[in-house]
Amino acid sequence: MEFVEFRDVTKVYTMGTNDIRAADGVSFTIRKGEFCVIVGPSGAGKTTVLNMLGGMDTCSGGEIRLDGQLISSYTRRQLTDYRRYDVGFVFQFYNLVQNLTALENVELASEICRDPLDPREVLREVGLEHRMANFPAQLSGGEQQRVAIARALAMNPKVLLCDEATSALDPMTTASILQLLKDINTRLGITI
Ligand code: ADP
Ligand code: MG
Repeated sequence: MEFVEFRDVTKVYTMGTNDIRAADGVSFTIRKGEFCVIVGPSGAGKTTVLNMLGGMDTCSGGEIRLDGQLISSYTRRQLTDYRRYDVGFVFQFYNLVQNLTALENVELASEICRDPLDPREVLREVGLEHRMANFPAQLSGGEQQRVAIARALAMNPKVLLCDEATSALDPMTTASILQLLKDINTRLGITI
């Protein structure tokens, strides 16, 4: 069975009398452990697709499955648990807690989930063993994104979703973050 499946998924936002079809019959599958990239122009619906897969938004039609579960039929309560236990999310602007250190940011995430990975171990994995005691403001953009990736990974998610995770970074840092994600995919076998 496919690990991720979108079958004829639609998302319609109603703005007054206007219907905006952010996703219009989207179908695809992703195998477990696959490194998959969704490309398209601004406004194509990439974020909409990721948010529906991550349980942050619901679809208007079609079916969404992850690991055999029919996400698209979940109640709000089930979606809350799904976001908490099964999905790791990395955003463009890191979204770190500013008054917590790198280690504390990762610990915070690991405290609210099942079977977390060891926060220090994960920070080592992303190459930040020497920056654990630093606050976000003391870190470069690339380092802050590494903390955000560590935080998502520490939750031991079934899938790691990254929305424009390198858009705020310079080309060299972008390359190193993409390499990090590929290494994580290879070493840990996590679907990205
Ligand atoms: P992308 O991430 O590929 O740039 P989005 O998924 O953010 O695209 O947006 C797809 C389309 O849906 C765009 O036309 C956008 O304006 C529209 N859209 C996204 N979110 C909303 C919303 N909450 N309300 C109304 N329209 C939205
Ligand atoms: Mg987007």
